[in-house]
Amino acid sequence: MRSFLPRPRLCRQTLDWRAFLVRNMGSTTTGVLYALTVASSPARPAPEDALQKSHHAKSGFRNPWDSWQDVNLKNVRQMLMRRVTGKANVPDTSGPTVPVRKPEFLPSRDTPNLRATWLGHACYYVEFPSGLRALFDPVLEERCGPYNILGPKRFTDAPCQIKDIPVIDAVFISHNHYDHLSYPGVMQISKRHPNCHFFIPLGTKPWFTSCGIDKVTELDWWDERDITLSPSTDKVTHVEAAGEADSTSAEIKARIGYLPCQHVSARTAFDRYQTLWGSWAIESGGKKVYFTGDTGYRKVPELPEGEDDHDPKHNFPVCPAFKQIGEFRGPFDLGLIPIGAYAPRHVWSAAHADPHDAVEIFKDTKCKKALGMHWGTWVLTEEDVLEPPEKLKTALKHFGLPEKGVFDVLDIGESREF
Ligand SMILES: [Zn+2]
Repeated sequence: MRSFLPRPRLCRQTLDWRAFLVRNMGSTTTGVLYALTVASSPARPAPEDALQKSHHAKSGFRNPWDSWQDVNLKNVRQMLMRRVTGKANVPDTSGPTVPVRKPEFLPSRDTPNLRATWLGHACYYVEFPSGLRALFDPVLEERCGPYNILGPKRFTDAPCQIKDIPVIDAVFISHNHYDHLSYPGVMQISKRHPNCHFFIPLGTKPWFTSCGIDKVTELDWWDERDITLSPSTDKVTHVEAAGEADSTSAEIKARIGYLPCQHVSARTAFDRYQTLWGSWAIESGGKKVYFTGDTGYRKVPELPEGEDDHDPKHNFPVCPAFKQIGEFRGPFDLGLIPIGAYAPRHVWSAAHADPHDAVEIFKDTKCKKALGMHWGTWVLTEEDVLEPPEKLKTALKHFGLPEKGVFDVLDIGESREF
């Protein structure tokens, strides 16, 4: 070894250096590996309908609220007709849309603040002050669809790939739609981070087992678990595991909970509603994060062209789960809340929040701050690709909130500390 190599500090360059050593010298290097254990957490109060499991159906699951309506055959015909007759808005993705930057991850687990990095669509990487490193709904492939050859193509680049993320302790999956759960993505994570644990919705364990991934914990709505990452002094033998290197070597603890949201699941034409969909609450190092996943908020009927479904004269049913989440699990330091894929409203409102709905979710769940997601990546619906952040500003104003600093949108790859 050349003697002028600097003493390894834990930074991106160091990780590269360690990787270089392992690759080129065929040796091992030491560092702190964390083993994650999952324990049941003490029972906490939950709402009455949660205890009754009203979301469990005879076959699979259901949204047990008046605010739900499924996309039906009539809607599908309507959307086809809108296309054929030219009535449908076809979003223009040709010009510059959402800026994309290369994410910068923290070089150490010893960090005082909560930090969230948007990796496009619904994927967030969250660095907790405890040292916990969590990844939500990772999909970094070009297309979101079966075999990654079907389905919409990205109109903004992925800001990084799985291999660029230095540490992943836990992955949280909201539901099994292709824009939230990627087969190549979870396989890469599991290979590069063999100690990573996957927290998944009830009913999705067989899919993970078929992928050969067994570090999974399947949860139902309102279930909670306490997790502990314990440092061990095992030798790091993987290039990828160099990212596990030291600085924090104390135990890392977190409480995680799976919670309701209003949506649906499906991976094929034959498994609709068969696995659960939901949201996540993670508390670690004194900070609480609420990841909403993919959700609708209210049921909007077909209205005359140009009619605003948020006009106070309307009183369309809204999903009561978010107020319950706020009451029983809030407040949260940060909410990660969807703002896109909502037009036309009478088709999508029950499954996808628009920015006005998103602000209501933000208020209901008692989030102190929020960042938007579920936009800017794939064209899934008819609204213009840059409309969600504009409508978010209008919605914030409507609710008497500042346009900036409370519920913001980031560039893809940008980080924000809280
Ligand atoms: Zn979905």
